Amino acid sequence: MTQMTQKERGLLFIISAASGTGKTTLVERLVQILPNLRMSRSYTSRPARAGERQGVDYNFVSRDQFDQMIARGEFLEWADVFGNLYGTSRVDTERLLASGQDVVLTIDVQGVFQVKAAGIDYTGIFVLPPSFEVLERRLRGRSADSEASIQRRLQTARREVLHYAEYEFVVINDQLEPATVRLQEIIAAARSRTPRMQPIALKIIESFHG
Ligand code: ADP
Ligand code: 5GP
Repeated sequence: MTQMTQKERGLLFIISAASGTGKTTLVERLVQILPNLRMSRSYTSRPARAGERQGVDYNFVSRDQFDQMIARGEFLEWADVFGNLYGTSRVDTERLLASGQDVVLTIDVQGVFQVKAAGIDYTGIFVLPPSFEVLERRLRGRSADSEASIQRRLQTARREVLHYAEYEFVVINDQLEPATVRLQEIIAAARSRTPRMQPIALKIIESFHG
């Protein structure tokens, strides 16, 4: 059940985590469970992994196309991650938020700085794996990246996890189910914030005064 009218602007959620933590797995579960929550589909110059689909997992574009999008100012944020470019379309995100949908971005810490610097309102959630060893096991278990790429991701992870305190919420992805529930709770809490509830609260209060 939604507690808002169609025209109200959606909320922006940002989830960051070191590659291999499980953020994609978690967010895919979340958008299936939660009505009115949509995942933003990023653009990337990275080649698709086996099983990844164009327009579903990412919008896969060439480096040239990506550079042109940067030049045209089409990204809300973008970053070079592991030597590939990743970015969030400004128009796609704005369209979803303006239509009243809540939107979740799974972006790296560099991208979050840009969103923050632009003064955009968002709820930031950092997901940690239970340990470095578990992260390594998950990256290897995914068996989607070369050994060099796994090493690079692990090196970057050592730096990325230091940023956890810059986020409003922290969730540990140990078991999938409890971590998913915790994310749902955070989203429910954000949806219950007073500014978000104000229109409906005002309507109820009006009924008290005839
Ligand atoms: P990310 O998007 O953060 O790079 P993925 O969602 O691709 O990570 O997950 C990395 C790997 O870890 C995948 O093989 C996924 O199935 C697995 N995984 C994710 N969460 C858990 C969990 N809670 N327990 C065990 N394995 C997990
Ligand atoms: P992967 O190659 O494993 O799909 O993603 C690698 C990293 O890129 C992850 O840390 C992920 O959060 C980040 N990423 C994915 N999409 C975007 C995006 O649109 N913007 C930014 N800044 N990072 C992204």
